[in-house]
Amino acid sequence: MRRRRSSFFAFILLSSLLTSIPQSSASKHTRLDSAREQKIAQAAESLRTQLVAQRRDFHMHPELSNREERTSRIVAERLRALGLEDVKTGVGKYGVTALLRGAKPGTTVAVRADMDALPIQEINDVPYKSQVAGVKHACGHDAHTTVELGVAEVLSKMRAEIAGTIKFIFQPAEEGAPAGEEGGARLMIKEGAMENPRPSAIFGLHTLPSIEAGQIAYHSGPAMAASDRFFITIKGKSSHGAQPQTGVDAVVIASESVMALQIIHSRRIDPQEPLVITIGQIQGGKRYNIIADEVRMEGTMRTFNEDVRQRAQTLMRETLLNITAAYGATFELKFEENGALTFNEPKLVEATLPMIRRVVGEQNVLSIKPFMPAEDFSYFQKISPGFYYFLGVGNRARGINAPWHTADFDIDEESLVVGVKVMSNVLLDYLDQHAVKK
Ligand SMILES: [Zn+2]
Ligand SMILES: [Zn+2]
Repeated sequence: MRRRRSSFFAFILLSSLLTSIPQSSASKHTRLDSAREQKIAQAAESLRTQLVAQRRDFHMHPELSNREERTSRIVAERLRALGLEDVKTGVGKYGVTALLRGAKPGTTVAVRADMDALPIQEINDVPYKSQVAGVKHACGHDAHTTVELGVAEVLSKMRAEIAGTIKFIFQPAEEGAPAGEEGGARLMIKEGAMENPRPSAIFGLHTLPSIEAGQIAYHSGPAMAASDRFFITIKGKSSHGAQPQTGVDAVVIASESVMALQIIHSRRIDPQEPLVITIGQIQGGKRYNIIADEVRMEGTMRTFNEDVRQRAQTLMRETLLNITAAYGATFELKFEENGALTFNEPKLVEATLPMIRRVVGEQNVLSIKPFMPAEDFSYFQKISPGFYYFLGVGNRARGINAPWHTADFDIDEESLVVGVKVMSNVLLDYLDQHAVKK
């Protein structure tokens, strides 16, 4: 961490030296870039009212994972109205993809927004309060969808200046498909979202309420944890609660297992490696005076390193095997991958940061620590190098800073214009950097 930070400050120093070079020595290319940046800025500003209205509409009509029928219909209609090509619906349930082909030759870059809401009751007293009882956009995916539609609108009017193709991906079920259903990034990929054409890079953004609207935050390298859900069943033997010696008590064995699993991180894994093992649910037993023959537990494991992930899974199995064997019980352990490691390709991050700094100002671009929550954008990054950054949506002065997944989560809508400006520039900048040289 420390080493990375010092190189980051060296980079800031270097880029501030570079920007202090007098304008006269700036290349023609740079002047063209700034004219284009101004054009994008003006186009995004002119969309302000429309972006706010669009976000409020999505916010008032939130839809749960794999149920984004209305949202995806609006998205597809809008993309068609903007003249985008190859608008495909039903890609991974309610997923939508579309292409914007520039007038100049070049590579393909993708941008992804997620569309689903959460089973949370809104408590904010705002004019755009969710109209669906018990469902709310509490992760800001309404803002993600709105920003990506704004980017499509701005760039659809700039085809002459686009060197290559932009693939727009609107994804359902980021928060996880309902039990027994497939969904999210993995299903979109399975159904071809990253082919024809395959993008050479992919970008995405997520709201971040702990930083102010107008700011962008990022982490280069492993940025969000891999997430594995696990299911444990401890199998014992029931008997009279007053005669435990004739049974095998699954409750006592489960209790010892819960504590032992916590010791994996503190004593068996390098303490410098992040690892979370959380048991969130325990169920077992039939009656207060019967020795329980079965206890079921469910939990989540978060890691930032594939070796640690594999090692921790092996150690969990080993721990459960030995504890249950010691008391004559048996066990089952099953893992379900919920999210891969969100890995921001360092070279791509370094190549993108100068443009982000130009758009929001150097002081507004923050390097932050990785997050333990997972993000299924990670699956797109397994196919193409990607950069997932954070869009500041907080406003402390107005009391907007509730965390993700809470009943009072909200965003400062000023962030929508910022999001459109930054992402539009990032995509064009990437295509320019990879333009076909004549
Ligand atoms: Zn979320
Ligand atoms: Zn989210």
